Amino acid sequence: MSFDDPTDFSDEREPIPERFHSFETGGPFKICSVCSRAFDEDEPHLIEKAFQKGETVYEYAICQPCHDGIREELSEESRQRIESHLREAIGRAELFDDPLERCIFSGRELGEEHLICGLFVGRWMVPQFPCFAISGEEMEKIAGLLSKSTRERLDQFTDDVLGIPGLTNPVPVLV
Ligand SMILES: [Zn+2]
Repeated sequence: MSFDDPTDFSDEREPIPERFHSFETGGPFKICSVCSRAFDEDEPHLIEKAFQKGETVYEYAICQPCHDGIREELSEESRQRIESHLREAIGRAELFDDPLERCIFSGRELGEEHLICGLFVGRWMVPQFPCFAISGEEMEKIAGLLSKSTRERLDQFTDDVLGIPGLTNPVPVLV
């Protein structure tokens, strides 16, 4: 995933959907989960939330500098594999009525375990980066594309930032 020019808005802005609000605060994320920097009006940030049986397993919002920093630590090979896997799928997701109701990879309905991910700027959606959802099954396939070192870095993120040591699935799609 890339933050390339996320500020190129069309005229109509749509606010961040409630599904991306913080379970912890009940409202929109206001700070970066990594560096605690407050998101201002035009701050690009990524939000990911994972659910299991209707409950939030984890959630985070991450600012662009923190996201760039973590991506740089991931192996080039893993990043490229995930990026090309995602790029193809994002084209497909535009055909869904509601991209948050179907898995971007399988096209099937989301099961009890799934995650949602989106790129936002300030309080707004970014039209050229549609939000998407991934089923638990497809998350396992993505985890299989990661190198050992990338997997270890993401495990560290899950442990340090999300406070969930030993989470095997889903893994954050920070790439
Ligand atoms: Zn940050």
